[in-house]
Amino acid sequence: MQYPNTYYASTAIAQPIRAPLQGDIEVDVCIVGAGIAGLSCALELINLGKTVAIVEREAVAWGASGRSGGLVMAGWAQGLDAIEQRVGLKKSQALFELSVRGVDKIRQNITDYALQHCDLKEGQLMAARYPQGDELRAKLHYMADNYEFSLAFLETEQVREICRTQRYFQGLYSSQSFHFHPLNYCLGLAQVLEEKGVLIFEKTAVHEVKSTAGSQSVITATGNIQARQVVFCGGGYSGGETPELKRSFLPISTYMLLTEPLGPLASQLISRPISIMDDRRAGDYYRLVEGDRLLWGSRISTAKKTDEDHLATLLRQDMVAVYPELGEVKIDKCWSGLMAYAGHKMPIVTEPKKGQWICSAFGGHGLNTGTVCGTLVAQAICGINNDYRQLEPFGLAWNGGVLGPVVANLTYKYLRIRDQWQERV
Ligand SMILES: Cc1cc2nc3c(=O)[nH]c(=O)nc-3n(C[C@H](O)[C@H](O)[C@H](O)COP(=O)(O)OP(=O)(O)OC[C@H]3O[C@@H](n4cnc5c(N)ncnc54)[C@H](O)[C@@H]3O)c2cc1C
Repeated sequence: MQYPNTYYASTAIAQPIRAPLQGDIEVDVCIVGAGIAGLSCALELINLGKTVAIVEREAVAWGASGRSGGLVMAGWAQGLDAIEQRVGLKKSQALFELSVRGVDKIRQNITDYALQHCDLKEGQLMAARYPQGDELRAKLHYMADNYEFSLAFLETEQVREICRTQRYFQGLYSSQSFHFHPLNYCLGLAQVLEEKGVLIFEKTAVHEVKSTAGSQSVITATGNIQARQVVFCGGGYSGGETPELKRSFLPISTYMLLTEPLGPLASQLISRPISIMDDRRAGDYYRLVEGDRLLWGSRISTAKKTDEDHLATLLRQDMVAVYPELGEVKIDKCWSGLMAYAGHKMPIVTEPKKGQWICSAFGGHGLNTGTVCGTLVAQAICGINNDYRQLEPFGLAWNGGVLGPVVANLTYKYLRIRDQWQERV
């Protein structure tokens, strides 16, 4: 099968099977990886007049982008408090503004290119798992005063009007966030790119890139691409083709499930077609699709668990802890995907060698940030601006080697225990 067995693959728009690269070609820019970052980069490049080829090991959006929760919201995988601590308020404000641009860009692409079956629905609720009225009100004011970002405060009764669960207390509602079908978005974008002249090669893995005299040779088993610039957008699936990147991120698994149709129970439990997430460090996020099926995501791990039954058991526990009424529902699908996380939890957007760009490590917040970072790299290549430099304070940092995954798992377990302790009301 071309795609893993996800909800998105089962509702994907029709696509051509794209041929692998055969022989040698030459383009201005070669992009490695056809996820949301690579596709966004390609779109900006072709619109700015470059010739572009994308080389994809599997298929368009086969990686995290086409399996994700589909929640699109401002911000980065790292929290604003930590970003402020690292770069100060002013630079953090500029970074936040970039993240908003990513949200707007997706919305704009859907409209401008009339992308089909993206199922865009507005609105997102962040619900507190323990009483936090004062903290959430303070956050709302902080975001309005410092980031010109408006959120609405919801009392516990209002939150429980939307989500019929005793698990949630107060919440913050964002009307600027939305959710959508990320695979159809990427597949639609790929069609637009091909119409504009971008070459997309599927089932073609890049093994190595050699740099000679201002030119890059992108080496694959069935042919080579000569390009002035190459952009690595391999996300959590990146490998030895970029040794600098490999040393700087950890592939982290996360999981999703899709329930059977819930009938009237769906709207009894979740009364609005918005997305919902809780305030845990690696919390639950979910939304209804097709009116009455629940698409639920939670948990992270450095273990590459793919056994569907085991995953379904873990995620069902999380879902039933919030909605006990769902204890007996059938799980139709369950899947995992890999995200790339750097230790600083910010994207790595840099040009470590002349003509070789890295645009990766968007963590669990990659739909808007992958979009904007891919666009920024394209603009830098074309000499439009150097806005990508705003991410330079983060860059390539050692991932901890063999100890990296151990530390990441322990940190996650510690944070879960802290969450449970705070929620013991
Ligand atoms: C289950 C899940 C739920 C998520 N939910 C959300 C969400 O709701 N909102 C949000 O903002 N983010 C979410 N994320 C995170 C988000 O999906 C990612 O951060 C983002 O999609 C990463 O995009 P990318 O283009 O960098 O990588 P990917 O989409 O992973 O694409 C990378 C591509 O590169 C290809 N590739 C890698 N190496 C090579 C090579 N050597 N040669 C050729 N091709 C190569 C891979 O095959 C892959 O297709 C989620 C992630 C997962 C896994």
